[in-house]
Amino acid sequence: MLDKFGRNINYLRLSITDRCNLRCKYCMPDGCDMVAHEDILSYEEFLRLTRLFTSLGVEHVRVTGGEPLARKGAAGFVRALKALPGVKKVSMTTNGTLLEKYAAALAEAGLDSVNISLDTTDPALAREITGSDGVVDAVRGSIALMRSLGVPVKLNAVLLAETAGTVTELARFAEEGVPVRFIELMPMGVGRFERGYDPDAALAELKRVWPDLHAVDARIGSGPAQYYASAALKAPIGFIDAVSHRFCSSCNRVRLTSRGFLKPCLCFDEGADLRALLRSGAADAEILGEIEKCVFNKPRQHCFDSPQDMTESRLMSQIGG
Ligand code: SAM
Ligand code: SF4
Repeated sequence: MLDKFGRNINYLRLSITDRCNLRCKYCMPDGCDMVAHEDILSYEEFLRLTRLFTSLGVEHVRVTGGEPLARKGAAGFVRALKALPGVKKVSMTTNGTLLEKYAAALAEAGLDSVNISLDTTDPALAREITGSDGVVDAVRGSIALMRSLGVPVKLNAVLLAETAGTVTELARFAEEGVPVRFIELMPMGVGRFERGYDPDAALAELKRVWPDLHAVDARIGSGPAQYYASAALKAPIGFIDAVSHRFCSSCNRVRLTSRGFLKPCLCFDEGADLRALLRSGAADAEILGEIEKCVFNKPRQHCFDSPQDMTESRLMSQIGG
């Protein structure tokens, strides 16, 4: 599916819930409003829409949230996605804390890869960021478990002012063969009130430990990370710095929120209310037309550098990252 700038949109992110067992300070504050259960798309509705997207060329589907594993039946949903014609890859983004319970079912369902989010290996800092105890140990266990089941794992870490000086410890997962990606804090939702850590400063910090770190042309998954390799690392370290290094010209993704709102760009609240169409009894052809129109009009680029132009006010937990 091409947009008006000729970008090929083949990657769909599904936020299957806005609920989460953690409260990361830059994502989902305590006391935020939750979407009513009846307003969240059923798995059947997600599957119908995904089938329509695949008929338009989407090949990779990522299941995210909120915390996707906080929704009952997530593994069964992965299995159903995998069975859709045209779906070449199903991945998940999770905070990893619930994987112990669901890892085997996800592997068995055919999950192709998992991105696990962890911002620091320091337990006290992790508690401060997520509001929960035991996150670091749980994530370490989940990474080992998923790898033992043969599901490729990547680690995602948001760069925060308070994690400056600690990124090396997290990057050591790459010594064990787990790609680590550092994500620049985006001024989305409550994230705009937090202070990020400059990706270039983080890279310099890493280069002090691995002086031979050098940019490589690796492409792992569907994301826009710039990867760096070192002879001492079994996996590369990536940076996803959407704010300071815009990569909109190669953006290949659209997002569907848990309410069934199709978002062509993170920054803007414009998009298509596919839930309203679904629930009004629209035929496939009508929904397809709306998807194509929305994707065609995907904005050229985000506007994080001019926050006054941002029209999106949803929390990241409602959008899915
Ligand atoms: N709960 C899952 C998790 O944490 O991986 C999936 C949903 S979460 C919204 C997806 C990703 O978005 C996480 O890696 C999270 O750290 C990231 N994220 C949330 N708010 C962000 C922000 N303001 N800037 C950059 N990344 C953010
Ligand atoms: Fe939950 Fe993920 Fe947001 Fe943290 S980043 S609050 S784990 S949805």
